[in-house]
Amino acid sequence: MDQDYSIAKEIKHLETFGSALDAFFQECEEKNLFKRIPPKETPETAAKRLADGYYLMRPCGCKFHAEETGAIALELFDLLKTHLPEREEDLAHIQDSFVSGKIEVVDFLASVFSNIDNDITKIISEYDLAEDLTTFFAVYLARPFRAKAARMLIEELDLEVWHYGYCPVCGHWASLSHIANKEDNRRTLWCLHCGTHWRFPRIKCAYCLNDDHELLEIVSPVSEESFRIQVCKKCRRYIKEIRSDDPVDQVSFDTVYLGMAALDYSAKDEGCVQDSLLTVRYDNPKGNKSLLYRQKTNSHESQMKAV
Ligand SMILES: [Zn+2]
Ligand SMILES: [Zn+2]
Repeated sequence: MDQDYSIAKEIKHLETFGSALDAFFQECEEKNLFKRIPPKETPETAAKRLADGYYLMRPCGCKFHAEETGAIALELFDLLKTHLPEREEDLAHIQDSFVSGKIEVVDFLASVFSNIDNDITKIISEYDLAEDLTTFFAVYLARPFRAKAARMLIEELDLEVWHYGYCPVCGHWASLSHIANKEDNRRTLWCLHCGTHWRFPRIKCAYCLNDDHELLEIVSPVSEESFRIQVCKKCRRYIKEIRSDDPVDQVSFDTVYLGMAALDYSAKDEGCVQDSLLTVRYDNPKGNKSLLYRQKTNSHESQMKAV
């Protein structure tokens, strides 16, 4: 990392981008997004699913309003063009692929929403799109839909029973961890894909649930210890983490997440594995390579010990 580089400054610089994303999500909340929303179980069945480690969202069979989806995609392109001017050309190329009708945006959304990342990979290579930006677009296009479904699915449920590093709602691995300085170092994980957050033990790997502190390392820039990664020496994965005086509900997770991108380089230096953002923990054991890191259920006692 460049010596003058500061994550705090980068986060400050990204505040307007983060606020624009928040405003975009809020606008989307008012829209009629789904033709068919994910099925919802009774509170008792859903609570049992959570207690057993199964996330709530069943995305297959969901349908979206094509017109609303098109309008949302256009708004998102405008927002990205404003805040990522250096990527204008790449963005225009992605947008053209939709506008020209080569890719139907509502079909693209369906693939993202159902976690069919092979479809996305195929589109990226077929139309020669920038992979990082297309993935970013995919995640943020699906976010309002997932967030709306998440709110509906977690109503009346207590997420305190959830002890895993993947999202209790949509099954994606947590994208950011927050340690609350003023609340006994309480740790919260955040899902980039649906905006859900949940409590998690502080000394534990979100991926393999390793809780041996000798195998967990905190790596941070020397002068910015509040911005760091927790590296697991057991599974070679990592999670970005912010220590903050602000309580969870006052943190703009998107801004912090985007501002901490430079720490991915530190993780590479540590020899960590880097997953695609689209990786989800599937229920189907044959369905996903990330099951190499399948999580075992720990007893409640050992979970709480490390909090
Ligand atoms: Zn989620
Ligand atoms: Zn691990």
